[in-house]
Amino acid sequence: MVDKDEHSSLLSLDEIEKNGVVRGIEIGRINHVTHEIIPTRKVWFQCNSTTACCRYHEIPITERDIQRILDNGYDLFQFIVEPSPILIKSKMKEGAYTKAYVLKKKPFTTECVFLENGKCKIHEFKPTACRLYPFTLRPVEGNSDLISVVVHPDSVCASVHTEERDSTKIPLQIKPNTITLQDTSRILQNVLKVVIESELMRE
Ligand code: SF4
Repeated sequence: MVDKDEHSSLLSLDEIEKNGVVRGIEIGRINHVTHEIIPTRKVWFQCNSTTACCRYHEIPITERDIQRILDNGYDLFQFIVEPSPILIKSKMKEGAYTKAYVLKKKPFTTECVFLENGKCKIHEFKPTACRLYPFTLRPVEGNSDLISVVVHPDSVCASVHTEERDSTKIPLQIKPNTITLQDTSRILQNVLKVVIESELMRE
């Protein structure tokens, strides 16, 4: 997702560590005009299909995402929190809010309405935020051509590893030999592909 909250800025690792709150770790930057990729920190990621992201998070969706879902036969009331858009408290800046449309949850649960038997019912046209997860995008202050790619830490998504591979740190549910070591620039390329496909930058 592109965070359009102009008051937001990415916390530096120092600030994150100082505050004791890990909100996101920058792994690189992408120039969305030239498509240049600038990796800054290695990351290991292979989706473990726990669906935790579909069960516990608020999922912000863009107007293009909404249109795609409508085009595939769903009605607005089935999947959008009403009234919309809502104001979401910024995780990056005290007192700041971002305006967003958010996917509905099933009644009395924290589960996305589209989650069925551990699978996404709209996988082929799911929202951009879901396609990017556990990566998110943030603007880079002072350079509108650049976007910063941030990964949720492993405390949020258990399939992410930002430290050098160390079997003692790998969560029990992931067997060491099933982890794919992905080159960070390849991850950034995939993120860029999603961004281009979704035409987020042209909205
Ligand atoms: S739309 Fe699909 S991928 Fe996104 S949160 Fe819902 S079930 Fe998960």
